[in-house]
Amino acid sequence: MSLTTDPNDPKLKEGQKNETGQHEIYLVLSEEERAKGFIQPVRNSYVHVGRKIEMKGGTIEPLPREEAKRYGDPDKYVAFLRYPESESPLVGKALTQEEVDNMGKYFGGCGAVTSMGQALSETYARDPKFYGATYCTGCNKHLPVDEFVWDGTNQKVGSIQEIKEWPKDQDEPHSLKESFKKEIEDLINRHSLENGSDTPDFILAEYLTGCLENFNKTLQAREKWWGREINHKVEEK
Ligand SMILES: [Zn+2]
Repeated sequence: MSLTTDPNDPKLKEGQKNETGQHEIYLVLSEEERAKGFIQPVRNSYVHVGRKIEMKGGTIEPLPREEAKRYGDPDKYVAFLRYPESESPLVGKALTQEEVDNMGKYFGGCGAVTSMGQALSETYARDPKFYGATYCTGCNKHLPVDEFVWDGTNQKVGSIQEIKEWPKDQDEPHSLKESFKKEIEDLINRHSLENGSDTPDFILAEYLTGCLENFNKTLQAREKWWGREINHKVEEK
């Protein structure tokens, strides 16, 4: 197995073909990008817990065979989970028998713990949504990241959570924002860009950082409203 930091590396397409087993090559963020700071702790192993369907305050209704056809194979879906008004615009979800039997619980996971190298772990820490799927040593294949939790936690792989207690040997994430702001400040200063508005560089840096944060927040709020996830995945073939 090898690593590349080039998303256009021709070996990536070739090396991610096999459905089982590890890929020959994985994409990671460059050292420079990782050095900008982590927004989640660096974690090296995850557990395959499987999927979990949440009721979200909804009700389970029978799904007539005629209607089940709309979701594909009518033998596969047996019920419909109808979400409450609060989940709108989402209406609900067709359920398989296995999903009905395991509502609110993890199921289908093999329980294996998979460990990975530092570059991959740091890529997750810098950009938790970088990968859409990850390898399970127990199943010997790649599966969606939300079937896994970080070992020793309840946090799903690929999720961003407020971390109450950061590992003692790791830098806390606000240093990322601070270092970014400092660089902007220096840049404004170097190009004398504060002259245009007669505003001190540190106030301009604060303003620009605020713009970026506001943009991120707005985009996330919009995507959440539409039930979409902001995700840029490594292409899985
Ligand atoms: Zn597994």
